[in-house]
Amino acid sequence: MKINFDPFVLPFFIGVLLMFGILIWKYVVWLEAMPVKDRRTMFKNMFTFRSFKAFNEAVMECLLHRRIFKINPVLGFMHASLATGWFLLIIFGTIESKFGHNNVFNMPWDPIFFNFFEPDKHGMQYGKFFTFIMDFLLLVVLTAVCFALIKRFCSRLFGMRKTTKLLIGDKFALYSLWLIFPARLLAESFNAAQHHNGGFLTQSVGNVISSLVPASQIATVEYSMWWFYSIVLGIFMVALPFSRYMHIITEVFLVMFRNFGMKSTKELKGYTRFEINSCSRCGICIDKCQLSSAANIHNIQPTYYIQSVRYNLPFEDRAYNCLMCGRCNTYCPVKIDITNMRNITRKIANESVSFKYDYLPEYKPELNAEEFNVLYFAGCMSHLTPSIPKAMINIFEKAKITYEFLDEDGSLCCGRPLMQSGLVEAATQLQKKMTELIMSKKSMVLVTSCPICYKTFKDDYKLKKHVLHHSELIKLLIDENRINLKKENIQFSYHDPCELGRGCGEYENSREVLKSLGHLQKIEQEKEKALCCGGSLSNLKIPYEKRELMAADAVKYLDEKNPDVIVTACPLCKKTMEKHANGKMKDLAEVVSEALNNSPEYAKEKEQLVSN
Ligand code: SF4
Ligand code: SF4
Ligand code: SF4
Repeated sequence: MKINFDPFVLPFFIGVLLMFGILIWKYVVWLEAMPVKDRRTMFKNMFTFRSFKAFNEAVMECLLHRRIFKINPVLGFMHASLATGWFLLIIFGTIESKFGHNNVFNMPWDPIFFNFFEPDKHGMQYGKFFTFIMDFLLLVVLTAVCFALIKRFCSRLFGMRKTTKLLIGDKFALYSLWLIFPARLLAESFNAAQHHNGGFLTQSVGNVISSLVPASQIATVEYSMWWFYSIVLGIFMVALPFSRYMHIITEVFLVMFRNFGMKSTKELKGYTRFEINSCSRCGICIDKCQLSSAANIHNIQPTYYIQSVRYNLPFEDRAYNCLMCGRCNTYCPVKIDITNMRNITRKIANESVSFKYDYLPEYKPELNAEEFNVLYFAGCMSHLTPSIPKAMINIFEKAKITYEFLDEDGSLCCGRPLMQSGLVEAATQLQKKMTELIMSKKSMVLVTSCPICYKTFKDDYKLKKHVLHHSELIKLLIDENRINLKKENIQFSYHDPCELGRGCGEYENSREVLKSLGHLQKIEQEKEKALCCGGSLSNLKIPYEKRELMAADAVKYLDEKNPDVIVTACPLCKKTMEKHANGKMKDLAEVVSEALNNSPEYAKEKEQLVSN
């Protein structure tokens, strides 16, 4: 049995061994730290139809980069041609070396350095086909490398205002990656110059080389080129586990785990550790974050934040200077739950803080309590915009709904701001008290005007009551003919509050209500792409002026088609944006309440009251 060997294969081979050694060690440690429940879920679903779905998603996203294509086709082409081109070079290279070597066992480096060891490839079975396909794939990858170079120095040509700034490990990996394919082209082309075995690409370059380099020197330079190719491959392999390219392999695991039913955890381990290492630092989240696009803050976006968490760099500033609006989650092609990760790190930063809550009153079920249709919780932000609770009370009264106003004095909070500040223990205590209070009431429906409270009551509390946002309740009242709204010739544009839209997936009720009042304009940045008003209570760092820039930016898009009224369904959004909206900003409850006050039906009722 002939064994192909030359010392130049060693840098590549040692690189491969180190890379797989480090990767296997890391993956075993992360899998070990996974909660037992998650591991059970994984094994339970592994041998089911979900595996096919995982395989399909891995091909579509990790190789073809479908999601990036949808966001930015040029960027998608760049990522897809690099990933798929390189993957196919490995696959076809392996098949070629099986055909070309008459060995039972091929050496791991045989497919990579095939032309060096088997220069007479045109004589082998399907030799010309392999020559063509390998040249074609090399050309595809080289094109992608050219795109990557242009993007790094001229990102605007790719529609990106900012690209990620790199750490030293990333630079090592990036520059060696850029060199791999030109090095391969040169090694193969020198080989073609000497043996006339190249394809349309390598033979053409080889012919140029033959005309420039004396024939006596071609073999020597060729040999140095194979060394160079092997060295840059080796450097890249060793740098991979310490750089952003860790995502290449880790993302495949993440896709599998997600399809097997696993989710982000509440700690920076297990599935979340795979998420942290699946970020490719593609930089898409930089432009999509308004802190960058509107407020000129470019260093806190997920790409940087995850970088800090991954390398244990100080991350508090990056964790806190974020609105938790979730827009980056929508656009992240890897589907990393970034806001969850920020919550975890905020919690870690506050672990030593403790509070006492024994002074809080105890709420017992009120046995003789009156039963109302609705328990209304305006939320403290609504108390800062009192026109909203006032409108809701008008709606309850006009719809003849009995209600109890739980936080009428404005002293209660759902606990979300504490939770998002990382004060988890304090928030949990507060939520326990709030649960007691809510459950002491007899109404089966809890209605809130604040989307933040709505999400918190729905997701964090275990209430045995229906929780509705006021947009849902109003839509129900229309459907049940409890209120009749007359359609007028009014143009509305609608702002999706982050917590109601991206947070709870609730987009349609408000739109349906507005359609029964007038005409709803379609705007570019809506639903899950909606912009944040900038007022979020989750950002504990951003100065007031920056918030103002974001609010103005959001209003600019909402006002683009010059609507008569800009509507939202959140007290905080209304408050934040109204000073930029030239008196056009209203909450959904307010427009409905005004329509009721102006309706002929109620004008008649009023007349009767006055005459009596
Ligand atoms: S978080 Fe997502 S969008 Fe941002 S750089 Fe990482 S992979 Fe790209
Ligand atoms: S959650 Fe919003 S503010 Fe925070 S990084 Fe993502 S897009 Fe930017
Ligand atoms: S979520 Fe915000 S607005 Fe709603 S009650 Fe809690 S603190 Fe107040």
